[in-house]
Parts: sequence; C-alpha cells; structure tokens
Amino acid sequence: MTAAQPWGQAVQDAITALRREVADLHRELVRYGLVAWTAGNISGRVPGADLMVIKPSGVPYEDLTAETMVLTDLDGRVLEGDWAASSDAAAHAYVYRHLPWVGGQVHTHSPYATAWAARREPIPCVLTMMADEFGGPVPVGPFALIGDDSIGRGVVETLTGSRSRAVLMASHGVFTAGTSPVSAVKTAVLVEDVARTVHLACQLGRPVELSQADVDHLFERYQTVYGQPGRATTILDAPSSAKPLQRKEPQ
Ligand SMILES: [Zn+2]
Repeated sequence: MTAAQPWGQAVQDAITALRREVADLHRELVRYGLVAWTAGNISGRVPGADLMVIKPSGVPYEDLTAETMVLTDLDGRVLEGDWAASSDAAAHAYVYRHLPWVGGQVHTHSPYATAWAARREPIPCVLTMMADEFGGPVPVGPFALIGDDSIGRGVVETLTGSRSRAVLMASHGVFTAGTSPVSAVKTAVLVEDVARTVHLACQLGRPVELSQADVDHLFERYQTVYGQPGRATTILDAPSSAKPLQRKEPQ
C-alpha cells in the first residue's frame, strides 16, 4: 500500500474490503471446477471511484490474498500492487468504462461453456432456469485477440444486445458481468451448469426451445418477483462491498 492516495478514506476503506472480497471469491472458481492452473480471473469496481481490483497475473489460486490483488484505474494501469495485473485487465476495464451498471466481472475457460464457445454456438434457451437467469440463449461474442480493447469491446457489444450477463467469447471462454463481484461469480457458475446440462440433452436428442412468450414471462417474474425487493438477484447475491446497482436491461 502506498502512503498517500489521491482519494479519501471512504474510497480507501472500499478498496480494502474489495481486495478481500475479490481474493476470497477466487476460491469459488476452484470449488466449482471452473478454472485450471492460473487461468481465470475476477474483478470488482471500487464504489465511488474510477478504480477496480483484479487478480494478479500468474499467481496460483492458493496464494491469492487481499494483499496480492491489484488496484488499477479504468484503463487497466496498475496503481497499487506488487504484481502485474491479470492479462485480461484491459478487457475488464473497458467493460467498467462502458457499462455503468457493472460492479463485478468474471472470466473463465470453464469446460462445458467453453466447448460451446469453441463451436461458436449460443447455448439455446431450453430450460426454465435459463429463461430466469439469462432471459434467453447465452450469446456468443466475436473472436478477439488479447492485447488491446477488442475483447472488452466484444463483451460490451454482446451484453448490450442481450439480456444475458454471460458471453461466450468465440474460441476463448466465458465472460460474465454482474452488479457485484459475487453476482458475476454466480452467473459464471450457472452458465457452466446450463452448458453442461444442455450438452447432455444434445447427446440424447434435440432439446426443445422455450417459446419467446414463456421466456419473457419467466425472466420478468424472476427479475421482479423472485428474491428480495430491490435486489437484482437471489440469495446467492450475498452482501458486497460494491454499491448495489439495479440491473439495467437493454431494450
Ligand atoms: Zn481467457
């Protein structure tokens, strides 16, 4: 930690809490089998500041602590931390710059979802929980090489054109966004779950797509009735240091 930051105590306290939260959430990626070696990462937006906390690059999951997390600005430049930021920091930063409702993001190469990404095939909406959670198919984003804004741009374009908070980036893997880091982790867990179930269904025949009217009804009910009033998601959306942001649906 540096001695004199250009932000106030409230932001510093938020950074401290977010470092802990983002570090701890990485264990969930391991627990749910979403990551191998050091691949995959989580970030969180610092409430009240143009800052984010993200996983360091190349550090084993068991060595991730609040202190090893990296603080960057929303151009992905490192402001605090002994490690380089995740190689996906530019993509996360781009998404925070362009989508104000996003408070947390996850990237994984979780196997079933990434198998759909490898075929560049959206996961069809054939389950009620997909309608609830994703509001339709899980979309595929463009093929984009790492190193500039193209991954972030592809994620933003795809999220903007869909109700889904998960994007299957072509030939790459899963990017999820949420109002908080834990909400983005929940989506990363659920997209792998439905990718697996729909894959299994496809082995046995052709799964039946839900009608648009049923998808709309289920999504509307889940987003507005299910769960707690004023909360964008459900019980898995535990308290977060991130500012609670209402989901803004693209029209
Ligand atoms: Zn990746």
